[in-house]
Amino acid sequence: MWQIVGQDNAVSLLERSLDKKALAHAYLLVGPPHVGKMTLALDLAKAMNCDATAVPCGECTSCLRIASGKHADVQIIGLAGDGDPAEARSQTEIGIDRIRDMQHSACLPPFEGRYKVFIMEGAELLSNEAANCLLKTLEEPQENVVFLLLTSREELLPATIISRCQRLELFPLAVGAAETVLSSRWAVEKEKARLLARLCHGCLGWALLAAPDDVWLKERSERISQMLGVIDAAGYGGRLEYAARLASQYGKDKRAVQDVLDFWLDWWHDMLLVKIGCAEAVTNVDLSSILEQRAEDYSLAEIKGFITAVQSAGRQLKQNANPQLVFEVLMLAIPGRGV
Ligand SMILES: [Zn+2]
Repeated sequence: MWQIVGQDNAVSLLERSLDKKALAHAYLLVGPPHVGKMTLALDLAKAMNCDATAVPCGECTSCLRIASGKHADVQIIGLAGDGDPAEARSQTEIGIDRIRDMQHSACLPPFEGRYKVFIMEGAELLSNEAANCLLKTLEEPQENVVFLLLTSREELLPATIISRCQRLELFPLAVGAAETVLSSRWAVEKEKARLLARLCHGCLGWALLAAPDDVWLKERSERISQMLGVIDAAGYGGRLEYAARLASQYGKDKRAVQDVLDFWLDWWHDMLLVKIGCAEAVTNVDLSSILEQRAEDYSLAEIKGFITAVQSAGRQLKQNANPQLVFEVLMLAIPGRGV
């Protein structure tokens, strides 16, 4: 059974290719973080090497060895050096050495399965040298060797690499589908499943990482009180101080600051939904009454204006604008309360 939830188009295309024994030599799995790219890649690696008639069975020795990361013919290549998280954090790109090692291994026949599968996580992080080296490999496909390139930032990959791969796009799940599967397959309690299904924006992997403990709930309430504190602060001093804090944090951990911006966007989008009478569609479903109260402080135009400001801040950061300036402009764009 395929472990991936949803993604019916990608799965049926792969099933047809498996049936006809017409697999591509390289696939590019594209989709937002936590949408299920690695799950689908492992499903495909299992299906290619599975011993059962209905593949992937998930139960044969081969499937189990792939699931536990022990199969000799399925390798995951990414930033994470040799599984050392500290080493992974210190790296910003996938270097040519890793691609050369991979090429060397790709030249040897499969050791225990039918196919050698190389899964490249974060393919957009390939250095230029590494990408050129990989391109040569993709241009000379070998029998029984399949490359699976995973990325959430397709625009950063060289067009020459993209053109050598069959592209499979993965899409976020609908809220209802995410909620159902969280309760039924992973036994997440009802209220938590309801909230996580909304907060994950259809990217189930995030919800599954968050579900086992409540660290994320604590982080979220800290973010809420911080945001409301900044919004409620009199004068601009507090806002500019917050902008400076975000800018300095951005220098150390871009992803974390992007998460803060995403959170702000969700919150203001929720207020917009409340304002136009669609309160049932909000993301922060457990905080409806605060949202309703807060939405009264602003006009619809002000809420829309600030949403545009947050979106534009996100875009500018991606284009390497000066973070301090971006956050200061954003903080000054917060509309005043009490309209
Ligand atoms: Zn199997």
